[in-house]
Amino acid sequence: MSDVTVGAKAARVLVPRVPALVAGFREVLWLSPEGEIEALSPDEARARLDPVHGETPIVCHARAVARRLDVAGFAAFDLLELFAFVRPAQFCVPTPRGLAEALGLVPPKDMAEACVALATAARALLQELANETGADARAIAEIAAKAGWPWGPAVLAALPASDPGMQRRNVGLRAWERLEEWQERAPPPPPGNDPVPADEARRRLAALLGENAEPRPQQADYAAAVAGAFAPRQRPEEPQAVLAEAGTGVGKTLGYIAPASLWAERNQGSVWISTYTRNLQSQIAGELDRLYPDPVQKRRRVVIRKGRENFLCLLNYEEAMRAALGRASPGTAQLALIARWIDATASGDLVAGDFPGWLAELIGRGRINALADRRGECIHAACPHFRRCFVEKNVRAARHARLVVANHALVMAQAALGGLDDASVPTRYVFDEGHHLLEAADAAFSVRLSGQEGRELRRWLLGAETGRSRARGLQRRIGDLVEADEEGSAALLETLVAARVLPADGWHQRVAEGHGLPGAESFLALVRQQVLARSQGDSPYGVEAEGRPPIDGLVEAGMRLAVGLDRLAAALRRLSRSLRRPLEDAENPPEPGMRQRLEAAVRGLERRADMQLAAWSGLLRDLAEPPGPDTVEWLALDRIDNTETDVAVNRNWVDPGKPFALAVAQPAHGLVVTSATLTDGEADAALAWRAAEAATGLRHLPRSPDGARIASPFDYAAQTRVFIVTDIPRDDIGQIAAAFAGLMSAAQGGALGLFTAIARLRAVHERIAPMLEERGLLLLAQHVDAMSTATLVDIFRAEEDSCLLGTDAVRDGVDVPGRSLRLIVFDRVPWPRPDILHRARKAEFGGGAYDDRIARLRLRQAYGRLVRRADDRGVFVILDRALPSRLLSAFPAGVPISRVPLIEAAAAAAGFLHDAA
Ligand code: SF4
Repeated sequence: MSDVTVGAKAARVLVPRVPALVAGFREVLWLSPEGEIEALSPDEARARLDPVHGETPIVCHARAVARRLDVAGFAAFDLLELFAFVRPAQFCVPTPRGLAEALGLVPPKDMAEACVALATAARALLQELANETGADARAIAEIAAKAGWPWGPAVLAALPASDPGMQRRNVGLRAWERLEEWQERAPPPPPGNDPVPADEARRRLAALLGENAEPRPQQADYAAAVAGAFAPRQRPEEPQAVLAEAGTGVGKTLGYIAPASLWAERNQGSVWISTYTRNLQSQIAGELDRLYPDPVQKRRRVVIRKGRENFLCLLNYEEAMRAALGRASPGTAQLALIARWIDATASGDLVAGDFPGWLAELIGRGRINALADRRGECIHAACPHFRRCFVEKNVRAARHARLVVANHALVMAQAALGGLDDASVPTRYVFDEGHHLLEAADAAFSVRLSGQEGRELRRWLLGAETGRSRARGLQRRIGDLVEADEEGSAALLETLVAARVLPADGWHQRVAEGHGLPGAESFLALVRQQVLARSQGDSPYGVEAEGRPPIDGLVEAGMRLAVGLDRLAAALRRLSRSLRRPLEDAENPPEPGMRQRLEAAVRGLERRADMQLAAWSGLLRDLAEPPGPDTVEWLALDRIDNTETDVAVNRNWVDPGKPFALAVAQPAHGLVVTSATLTDGEADAALAWRAAEAATGLRHLPRSPDGARIASPFDYAAQTRVFIVTDIPRDDIGQIAAAFAGLMSAAQGGALGLFTAIARLRAVHERIAPMLEERGLLLLAQHVDAMSTATLVDIFRAEEDSCLLGTDAVRDGVDVPGRSLRLIVFDRVPWPRPDILHRARKAEFGGGAYDDRIARLRLRQAYGRLVRRADDRGVFVILDRALPSRLLSAFPAGVPISRVPLIEAAAAAAGFLHDAA
């Protein structure tokens, strides 16, 4: 290690004397401890990282580097781990440049500078530790160092000395002891019914924007229009509904925050603002700074509400910690980083809160998920951490907040499953990203009986039966609640016996082999057989078949399974009745904590019996009947890269708008459904508006919603160009790849490549990655890089000249203002996938016009990503000459659209973007 003395405290900074490594696709740069830079081939780099004789370099994101070098893993000083230790619960873009910027260092301009930046960043981070005052940091670092964490000795050298007693008790990892407890509060009274007049909404918006803001008449009109959703309801089941399209740049978030916040204050109620993704939740919460500039007040008034599966479960963490310490596992070092995060986190949210996405990638998403309550095994008041629990804090805070920022999946699950953790369902909603609303409804209101789902339920009931799983079954969770009750004990025993009808560990292999199987597994084997017998075509990502007519034996096996599931449901109901008895005991009511625990247990049992098992049983029995008009049943064999992952029977609503309207919209008093793309640009505006009502489920309300359409203030005709390339055969992947590379080079990066199939994306990536690297352009790719979509988008946003390849999730999740996104290239017309479900919906929603509408909306959504600010310019290219002219209304009127050969498209794009630069 090199020894540097820094700062007034004269702490010793010992930067490890090891090389630094930055990996590209063609070459790898290696900086020796003496400061020499070598360019290595990937083969030479792999040899130097040999697990036995190799070296341990400093890298940034070891998993991504390993994927790029095509090695399983290697020993490394990962700077991101050091960053996570030194600055827990803080974010940096996970690249050498991102690290340098976060640390206030000079950002590197090329790979050689990036190598040097890694070493510099290591020193800077270790120097920061000289200012760390808390004793917990040292206690945590000692445990990590003992577990073999490469940074351990350097971190310990930089930190002050500790109290020796702390390490003995593993006090560093006992992070729950340092958390505050929540305080119980009386439930809030029901909200009032005062309306929000349009002019008051305008005034509130003006106040939010401040005196010096430029006048934005469209935004004020929008705020006035959506204020109608906050009027009192006139009839039961007839909410005040507003369907509002606001083009990009209108500023719809503050536009709806204005009336929503007024209504919430005036009526002492909560408005739930729901959006599509967890990252968008964070963005909306960020905009609420204008409403509540004081962070203390904001914490009281605004809550980002998420499902419990997003939060760290302290009990799971404690159990993982004990297991890791008992085995002296290297996982201990990872838990040490999590302990640092627990000390610093504002919310305990592991998914899109202040837990960096790249840290989950380094530790492994599976390990992080295992620390959350993903399987509903919470033991509530029986948990020693109940009063410090992050989930409980989130649920309780939401009850008293004025604005709750939620996501569509949670709102739908809450409606489908009856309230979940929330004591009452909201009465006022704003659904942002309304074009995704019915996707969430589809997922929440569908029924899926599959091997994995069955295995999950079995684990919830029986707990871990084999292996090292820490799963807690019913006996462990509620056994003590019924041990003194003969009937309850008998019901628990019967439940545990009946649960054996469900698939067990290893079901997958047995179902594939298909002989002499027990319970659900024999049925699943027949489902798999039917899919393989009937599916048309093959795919490494799964195949499907209709449920009817069934193959021989399928209906009978389904009936036998239905009987087994009914027996299990009956046992669960008996168990639930036993647990209800003390709740209804007027003479000896349970303590509040015990009451909560009993209520949660009853809720969990009844939900499984009356919803999950009843729905499965109904689905199985219906397979013998003719299909109903409202739903579609279909069978699936899921695969990932040719590996089978699940076998399922599915039932989806043909129109998920129906259950959404019934379970969410009608019970509400008011709702806004809004988006930049509700209508698809169809020539007939009335038709387009009716399609928008259908696509959001609002056509099922007793009274039509009020409509508002506010045009974007951007001059798209001046700011964008659209090219349809006419000379590239759509199935010639070599030419497609060359076109991507040519266009991305012409734009000098800042390009997003969108694909309709993962296989095509990978094939293009393989061909163009070295070429773009040679031209100095960083290429990122979903489904290729060992990073999540959110991390890739963060890097793409930060590295102005990078390129990103992705599929639907990237198309829907990218919000990149400025030059970082200046070119979008679509490989094909984004038609909907012609699967069984789509066929039923196409018949319901207008045949070919429905396909056109979906493709136009997808083009419109993707195109809308190009211009996020008034000074953005961008080029949109489709490499599919078969794009029909009737889809061109997806683009705003007046935008120049040209059908040209590739060479002209590339030259025109370069010229247009160059003029803008
Ligand atoms: S109360 Fe439940 S979710 Fe919270 S820490 Fe305990 S077991 Fe985990």
